[in-house]
Amino acid sequence: MGCLSERYKDQLKTDIPEVDAFFGVNDLEKIIRHIGGNWFHDLENERKLSTPPHYAYLKIAEGCDRKCAFCAIPLIRGKHVSRPFHEVVKEAEILANTGVKEINIISQDTTYYGLDLYKKRRLPELLSTIAQIKEFEWIRLHYTYPDGFPTELLQVINNYPNICKYIDIPLQHINDRILKSMHRGVNSGQTREILDNIRKTIPDVAIRTTFIVGFPGETEKAFRELKQFVEESQFDRLGLFTYSHEEGTSAFKLRNTVPEKIKAERAEELMTIQEAISRKLNAKKLGAILKVIVDRKEGEYYIARTAADSPDVDNEVLIRKNGRKINPGSFYQVRVTGIDSFDLYAELQ
Ligand code: SF4
Repeated sequence: MGCLSERYKDQLKTDIPEVDAFFGVNDLEKIIRHIGGNWFHDLENERKLSTPPHYAYLKIAEGCDRKCAFCAIPLIRGKHVSRPFHEVVKEAEILANTGVKEINIISQDTTYYGLDLYKKRRLPELLSTIAQIKEFEWIRLHYTYPDGFPTELLQVINNYPNICKYIDIPLQHINDRILKSMHRGVNSGQTREILDNIRKTIPDVAIRTTFIVGFPGETEKAFRELKQFVEESQFDRLGLFTYSHEEGTSAFKLRNTVPEKIKAERAEELMTIQEAISRKLNAKKLGAILKVIVDRKEGEYYIARTAADSPDVDNEVLIRKNGRKINPGSFYQVRVTGIDSFDLYAELQ
């Protein structure tokens, strides 16, 4: 089940006839019935976590009202539908009671939360309500769309010690012509203004972003501008995608496509720049004492993360097993003893 089977169900049925059933993104009830279970509405917010028990994702909305030219998600998941405020808080409380210590707030566009249902952006309010659940030591915010970014959010992040000083803001590009063609709703000046504002308000913030290289019409000059922007912005974390044509999107019909080979070269070039930035930022942490959460044991190491690292997508901290007992799922203070481009090595304090 998921996006692929939502969009290409019929074709998949023909191509892979040995699969028992295909379900779309909103077919929870159907899948439960299909496997012989009963659907109890009252249990809707009860969850069996597929993550380790100490962290969880909390989805606050489904779908998206934006019109990013490269993106098929609105075609698959539909228009933005915020979950009712009290329902999200209730689910957060249930998660807290089951031992979750770190909550990662997600949706396709978190800063839009509330506009459809309450005619007002309510993410700052939602975040401060969740921050009052004392079981959560870390609360992390993902996918904050830059256009219409509610600046009071920054104050909320500053006000609560259990909200990670971490902002994930997908920027996708910096060249004005490309941003316009991507229908992102912000230009390069506004993008820089938001970043300045974030850094001024939360001086120790870790910023994560993502970019797309090779969007149709991305000339060598536009790519150079993106490289310079990445160098000047010194992002703490950066994810990179090469553009790929998605059926039904408005970019699908754009003709001036960038050859695959050039896309790959640009991605490599940009990642090399980011690797050097990341190594430099890591070097500044040598000897520092950091709070980490331990996710798992792996060979000779316990693998942990700092507040600036979201599970699966960001950096890790490797703590060597040295006879002292470490429990996955617990927080520790560690001292950084070594670095590489992305990860840190540390020992227990
Ligand atoms: S990229 Fe994100 S914000 Fe843009 S349309 Fe897709 S899901 Fe929505």
